[in-house]
Amino acid sequence: MAKNIHIGLSPLTGTIFAGTAKPVKGNTNGAMQFTGEKVDVTSLALAAVAEKLVKEDRIISWTLADGRTLQLRADYVQKAEPTVIRRCPRCGSSLVATERRPDGNSTCDQGHVFPTASAIGGSHGKN
Ligand SMILES: [Zn+2]
Repeated sequence: MAKNIHIGLSPLTGTIFAGTAKPVKGNTNGAMQFTGEKVDVTSLALAAVAEKLVKEDRIISWTLADGRTLQLRADYVQKAEPTVIRRCPRCGSSLVATERRPDGNSTCDQGHVFPTASAIGGSHGKN
């Protein structure tokens, strides 16, 4: 017979514990009570969940009792992500100098001057 392993969060310390547990008497909402030794698995649990989500490229969401939706995802953090890459609309060069003012112009390394708003790839995340 498999042991009834439970994983639960301590609301006081924020520690995630794992151990054998049994349902709380008279409680019908699924609450569990640890019955023996419980082990701090906070780091292991977080790492396992994050690794699973990022490997499977998944976002998990579920609805809480109060109707709110909780969403969980994991992302690799990219080091020193370059600022938005803009390209010249005439030659496509990404070596563009941009004036730091509203409605400013940009100049590519070929000397083409164009309104920054007309640059290719101005939106974040698309290159
Ligand atoms: Zn150009």
